[in-house]
Amino acid sequence: MKYQDLLRGLIRLHILFHAVEGEVYGQWMIDELRRHGYTISPGTLYPMLNAMERKGYLKSKRQPAGHSFRRVYRATARGRSAYKAAKARVRELSRELIEGL
Ligand SMILES: [Zn+2]
Repeated sequence: MKYQDLLRGLIRLHILFHAVEGEVYGQWMIDELRRHGYTISPGTLYPMLNAMERKGYLKSKRQPAGHSFRRVYRATARGRSAYKAAKARVRELSRELIEGL
């Protein structure tokens, strides 16, 4: 993905948003991000989900899916409060970006 270093923060926030709303899993998140114009591979997304869980923003569990299992993620209390803090800053920043160029 082009400009990945810059866009990673937005992707993490996007993941957090959906994990606050409900359960998310890797392939669903890849499809959702593609819908928003981000092409992200499993090799990039899964380590990102792991890191977000390690840092306490997400909690995962294994869930049966067809003949196998998948790992589903939800935001923790810490994840929800980080989301609120980030959302206020995104609102503030987008106001400036829209008024700017
Ligand atoms: Zn979305």
